[in-house]
Amino acid sequence: SNIPNATISRLVTYLRILEKLEAQGINRTSSNHLAEWAQVSAFQVRKDLAYFGRFGTRGMGYTVNVLKRELRRILGLNRPWNVVILGMGRLGQALANYPGASDYEFSFVGLFDVDPDKVGTQVRGMTIQHLEGLSEFARQQPVEMGFLAVPPERAQDAAQALVDAGVKGILNFAPVVIQPRTFERPGREPEIADEWRGVIVENVDFLAGMKRLAFFILNPGLRDLDTE
Ligand code: NAD
Repeated sequence: SNIPNATISRLVTYLRILEKLEAQGINRTSSNHLAEWAQVSAFQVRKDLAYFGRFGTRGMGYTVNVLKRELRRILGLNRPWNVVILGMGRLGQALANYPGASDYEFSFVGLFDVDPDKVGTQVRGMTIQHLEGLSEFARQQPVEMGFLAVPPERAQDAAQALVDAGVKGILNFAPVVIQPRTFERPGREPEIADEWRGVIVENVDFLAGMKRLAFFILNPGLRDLDTE
C-alpha cells in the first residue's frame, strides 16, 4: 500500500525527537510521549510506524536507540548520499556552509554555477564549477541528489541538467513547479521522458510556510494535526 507523504514527514520528526532523547540519556519512550512531542495523536504515531513493522513491545513502549536505528534505516540515512548544489548565490552558499547536513551521511560533493565571477572561487574548501561540467562530474561519481538554488526562470533548465546527469532526487528551492520533460507522438498522450522516470522533486518554500502560518494564526481551531 502507498505510504502517505505526511507519514514520512512525521518519521523525520520522530527521528529528531529520538535523537534528542538519546542525547539526554533517555533509553525508553512510548507512542504517547512521541505523540506529545510531535504534536500528533498516539494513534497516529502507532499507525505511522505500523507501515514499516513492529518496533515496540505492548505496554513497554520503545527502546530509544533501537527505534532511532530503525527509523534511520527506513529513511535511508544509514548510507551515504552525494549531493550537488546548482546555484551558488545567497541561498546556495548558505546551504553549502550549513554544517548540519553532515550529521547524516549527506555530502556536498559538487557546487555549480554559471556566473564566471563565481566559477573557480571556493566555498567551504570546494571550488565552484561551471554547470557545463556537471555531466562529466557525475560520470566520475554517483550523484543522487541535487539542490536547485538558481533563479526561478532558470530552475526548469537546471533541473533538466540534474536529471540528465542521473540525479534521482531534487530539492527545489526556487518558487516554481518543476515539470518532467515530456514528448508527444501523434495521436497519443504526452509521455514522460525516460530520464525523468523515478525522479522525485521536493519543494522547499519558506514563503508558502509563512502563508500557512498566517492562515493558521488567524484560524487556530482549523489546524487538523492528524490528517492523512
Ligand atoms: P541569487 O541570485 O543570490 O543566486 C542564484 C545563483 O544561481 C547565482 O549565483 C547565479 O549565477 C546562479 N545561476 C543562474 N543560473 C544558473 C544555472 N542555470 N545553473 C547554475 N547556477 C545558476 O539567488 P538566491 O537568493 O540565492 O535564491 C536562489 C533561489 O532560491 C531563487 O529561486 C529564490 O527564489 C529561491 N529562494 C528560496 C527560498 C526558499 O525558502 N525556498 C529562500 C530564498 C530564496
